[in-house]
Amino acid sequence: MPFQQIAGHRRLLQLMAAAAVRGSLPPSLIFAGPDGVGKRMAAVALAQLVNCASPVTGADGAPDACGACASCRRIARQVHADVLIIEPQESGSIKIEQIREAIDRAAYRPFEGRRRVVIIDEADAIVEPAQNALLKTLEEPPPASAFVLVTARPDLLLATVRSRCQRLRFGRLSPADVARVLMRDHEYTETDAHAAASLSDGSVGRALEATEAVVEAREAAESLLEGVAGTADPRRRLDAAKSLSGAARLSDRDELARRLRMVSSLLRDLGILLSRADERLLANADRKPLLERLQRSFDGDRALRAFAAVDRALSALDRNASPKIVADWVAFQI
Ligand SMILES: [Zn+2]
Repeated sequence: MPFQQIAGHRRLLQLMAAAAVRGSLPPSLIFAGPDGVGKRMAAVALAQLVNCASPVTGADGAPDACGACASCRRIARQVHADVLIIEPQESGSIKIEQIREAIDRAAYRPFEGRRRVVIIDEADAIVEPAQNALLKTLEEPPPASAFVLVTARPDLLLATVRSRCQRLRFGRLSPADVARVLMRDHEYTETDAHAAASLSDGSVGRALEATEAVVEAREAAESLLEGVAGTADPRRRLDAAKSLSGAARLSDRDELARRLRMVSSLLRDLGILLSRADERLLANADRKPLLERLQRSFDGDRALRAFAAVDRALSALDRNASPKIVADWVAFQI
């Protein structure tokens, strides 16, 4: 997948592409950043760009692979002779034989492309002797070879490995970027995509893990907020608490925690609207009509107090408080 199709990280990807085309990109790189934000895809895009038969200029003016030539397609299918992707075996670790093979292959001139690229995914899983075996190659890679170590936990790599590589940091994606990827590549509806994105912590991987539960959690969070917004009547607030605890699931601590985090996410968005901050920061942008209705009942102070109350409720749950009591308490506090 060329750079243009990767969500987020625009500035980083533009700089990387420009440096790759100029030939000034260091040959030993670490792509560091949270799981599920597109680091491995960026490494593949880089391998495509340096081997593409007809590179293009992307909409943002940065150079990019065409994604369509034989080389780009072979790299995407992982059958290009010069682009090797190494990942943990079933044991969960990357063995010394895998690393030796990569070192041996990197020593030869590229076979069909211009540049050999060795991508090591989950590089923190390389066993220690193999990391040591890699040091000399990282220090002085053979001409026309490049190594990209992809990892969410760079600190688990040996310091000697880290010091020989240039580290590029990938941040979290915005909720809007996560939602866009879910709709484009995973056939999510708009509602499901935004709900999943709002609790994904900026990771497509995390969003994909928990969609159905998250959609339910957001519905519950919304009924709570709408239920308590305009009323101080205790009975109506207790009714609203039921939407949070869910009649059948009083004992399900994880479920309540998910719903509370969703209440937090909506309250944070409410804060963004109330303070007139940049609306692109909204995690639940598709729920703007609801958020605007809530604005009539919540001012900045109330939103802040509610946010703090949800935070306290989540810690109480952690400390084993009864889910029902926590849900009722929240309904009276916000
Ligand atoms: Zn191409």
